[in-house]
Amino acid sequence: MYATNIWKEIAPGKREAIFDYNEGYKAFLSVGKTERRCVAESIKLAEAKGFRLVSEFTRLKAGDKVYFVNRGKNIALYVMGTKPVCEGLRILGAHIDSPRLDIKQNPLYESNGFALLDTHYYGGVKKYQYVTIPLALHGVVCKKDGSAVDINIGEDENDPVVGISDLLIHLSADQLQKTAAKVIEGEKLDVTVGSIPLDKEEKDAVKANVLKLLADKYGIAEEDFLSAEIEVVPAGKARDYGLDRSMVAGYGHDDRVCAYTSLTALLDSPAGEYTACCILVDKEEIGSVGATGAQSAFFENTVAELLRLSGDNDYISLRRAMQNSCMLSSDVSAGFDPLFPEVNDANNSAYLNKGIVFNKYTGARGKSGSNDANPEYIARVRAAMDENGVHFQTAELGKVDQGGGGTIAYILGNLNMNVLDAGIAVLNMHAPMEIVAKADVYEGYLAYKAFLAMK
Ligand code: MN
Ligand code: MN
Repeated sequence: MYATNIWKEIAPGKREAIFDYNEGYKAFLSVGKTERRCVAESIKLAEAKGFRLVSEFTRLKAGDKVYFVNRGKNIALYVMGTKPVCEGLRILGAHIDSPRLDIKQNPLYESNGFALLDTHYYGGVKKYQYVTIPLALHGVVCKKDGSAVDINIGEDENDPVVGISDLLIHLSADQLQKTAAKVIEGEKLDVTVGSIPLDKEEKDAVKANVLKLLADKYGIAEEDFLSAEIEVVPAGKARDYGLDRSMVAGYGHDDRVCAYTSLTALLDSPAGEYTACCILVDKEEIGSVGATGAQSAFFENTVAELLRLSGDNDYISLRRAMQNSCMLSSDVSAGFDPLFPEVNDANNSAYLNKGIVFNKYTGARGKSGSNDANPEYIARVRAAMDENGVHFQTAELGKVDQGGGGTIAYILGNLNMNVLDAGIAVLNMHAPMEIVAKADVYEGYLAYKAFLAMK
């Protein structure tokens, strides 16, 4: 069903299904504040549905459910099909990293009676959106003895939160003359973490007190920040948004909304002819680079393992598996915002409550960096949606020349498979509080299930 409102003439029972499904999504988003937490939560959901880590298999056969984890930040899950793997897979891909502030390697300092943590922002953020809101700390501190300490401060209602200050309006005459890009600068995004001085300490006593607290509670010394990965993210749970509860407000919909819907579609799908896959990657917001990003060999390595465990050791089988595969590369679409209509081409925009969004191409300035899906393939996906009564729409990211953005689609496209950009429309993309429509979240899940069963 093309570009129609999901709530109009809705089938009996679907309203309840939409609201029920979103309770699960809100729980996932509330816990999944970092890529590591999303992987841990995905494993929990998958194991409850009978998925097992690859090392538990010596042989794979149709119907087996297997997953691979890469460095705790990237996961690939498969349901083995009846056809050989070399005939191709049905792949759902999304990213689980989100824009945020990362703690620097030498972060802790004292200034004028406060202890602060220096940060470097990750991904595209409007820096001014990160001040004067409650923030939480999540991550790991890895110690030289090989142990790792999990950090999770600011989510429990009894936890303290941290935050970044902004200038009071009364003294902002100069600041308010600056452009929005400069009003809060990157080096000013420092997180306040304390103000009590350690007794009998002369120099940097507040910093010393914070270090004592870290040592007592977590067994961490200052130099352990050298091998730590701590992310500063908006504190608090995902919540219903709107008086009619039709939307979800939360941090990290980009792209955990596509990750959760893709993941649960795979978990809930029966084994089919083609081996079905869901891959959740890290590092999309900074170019999909590195071992845990979409450009990593990890994905191909996992398919090579599937082939080996199915008794197929022919090198060409891996190449054929790639070439014969179909993928929906999912990432959020910019939802049409009634307060900012001027940046969109109304006929080629994504609208909340109209279902999953397909983007033939993304990119910027002349489609640069785009996968640009083949129309032959788009026709097959359209047919699969219509056969299953799934609401879908098409869009591009804003007006030509207004900006743009990339996704992981071209990376998998480079392996010579069919890839189409898909996703769920979001308002306030990359803000500490993003918005999606519950009906779209559920429709995304239905779309992914229909895709996995596509002939
Ligand atoms: Mn994204
Ligand atoms: Mn993004």
